[in-house]
Amino acid sequence: TMAKPMVAIVGRPNVGKSMLFNKLAGKRLSIVEDTPGVTRDRLYADCDWNGREFTIVDTGGIEPRNDNEILQFMRGQAEIAIDNADVIVLVCDIRTGVTAADQDVANLLLRSKKPVVLAVNKADRVGPTDPDVYEFYNLGLGDPIAISAIHGLGVDEMLDACFEYFPDEVEEAEQEDVIKVAVIGKPNVGKSSLVNRILGEERVIVSNVAGTTRDAVDSYFENEFGKYVLIDTAGMRKKSKVNDRVEQFSVLRATMAIDRCDVCLILIDANEGVTEQDTKVAGLAHEAGKACIIVVNKWDTIEKDDKTMDKMRADVRNGLAYMTYAPILFISALTGQRVNKLFAMINHVCEQSMMRIRTGTLNSVLADATTRVQPPTDRGRRLKIYYMTQVGIQPPTFVVFCNDAKLFHFSYQRYLENQIRNTFGLEGTPIRLIIRAKGEKGDL
Ligand code: GDP
Ligand code: GDP
Repeated sequence: TMAKPMVAIVGRPNVGKSMLFNKLAGKRLSIVEDTPGVTRDRLYADCDWNGREFTIVDTGGIEPRNDNEILQFMRGQAEIAIDNADVIVLVCDIRTGVTAADQDVANLLLRSKKPVVLAVNKADRVGPTDPDVYEFYNLGLGDPIAISAIHGLGVDEMLDACFEYFPDEVEEAEQEDVIKVAVIGKPNVGKSSLVNRILGEERVIVSNVAGTTRDAVDSYFENEFGKYVLIDTAGMRKKSKVNDRVEQFSVLRATMAIDRCDVCLILIDANEGVTEQDTKVAGLAHEAGKACIIVVNKWDTIEKDDKTMDKMRADVRNGLAYMTYAPILFISALTGQRVNKLFAMINHVCEQSMMRIRTGTLNSVLADATTRVQPPTDRGRRLKIYYMTQVGIQPPTFVVFCNDAKLFHFSYQRYLENQIRNTFGLEGTPIRLIIRAKGEKGDL
């Protein structure tokens, strides 16, 4: 599949970012919306404009108490958007006019050379352009586009402007043998150390991704295992002025990096085991449907006997129970122990996440499964599963047609998922089942 361009919405509090986001999210594809068990962060929506799919991100979500805090917050937002998005929409408010904070962020965006679309919101009147819009030329970001998020005015024009900046689909196709890897985990778990260790290996050829504005956070490299892009979520190479250890920013940064990667390396500190914060970070990867490897780091610091690894493995399985599909690797970023093993594993889980299973094969597994364990009944009605077909990869996504979706309890979905995994493997990748009652409408 083609990577979806990412559009980030930034701007001061109260300019209407969420309103705009919700308006755009209304255009989302039903296949995403209908996926059961997928509670993707509200900050994200998959959209479709003129047949091109893209992801919008609302970077907002706090209510800063004073001007200084607002500015700090906006800079943080903007920096993360610069690192991760393809296009940034800066939203301003026609009623307040250009503010100092708008100017500050506009300057930051200008320096980044990132494509920016300037949307001036709350231009609610239909008809000729409100002259108050012209003031926004002063931001130096080109033509301001007057919009009204509430009424949906100007939104199409705004999307057209974004569309102009989307990377060429052909160009992207050429990069398909490159695996994008995000290294995620809580602060101090060893993300930067691992990135440095990988890029510092002798037989690695490192270069910045040519011609992209993501140079600051993406490292392209090749070794005997393949071609990769490492996405630096620690913000290591470009130390941010904003404190990335602030929970809100580290989550936003991780979320955006996860969205554009193929494989997530989820780092766990061997000394601490799985913590609540780890569960949260890993959950983001799981919900985004990404192929994952659980990497237990700082293995060098552990005093070991012959049972230590098994015990740790059990602890990790227990702590990240929703991720039983992910392989576990024990490494030391410090000494380099087993770091080389990562690459074969990355290739493997990435391949697995792109597996395509023929409908015939799938349905014979389904027939076996329903014979072995009868589908459940509820008040005398039995679930009947008619047919199953794969509709997507990364993650493998299956539509299952049945007589009544309400009868398709979670436990039976789990059972079916396990049967599919027993037959096809699908190691390291989540899978999605979309349950459809026969005759139900849907864009498939
Ligand atoms: P955010 O903080 O940037 O996410 O802003 P919100 O989306 O929460 O909107 C802030 C306020 O502006 C809310 O009261 C919205 O109802 C209002 N608002 C948002 N968009 C528009 C618009 O297009 N026109 C008008 N008149 N009000 C809007
Ligand atoms: P980040 O915040 O996730 O990027 O973590 P860092 O890479 O900055 O590492 C945090 C600290 O842990 C540093 O002092 C590292 O030297 C140390 N560290 C990282 N990986 C290892 C490891 O495998 N073994 C040991 N002993 N220390 C490590």
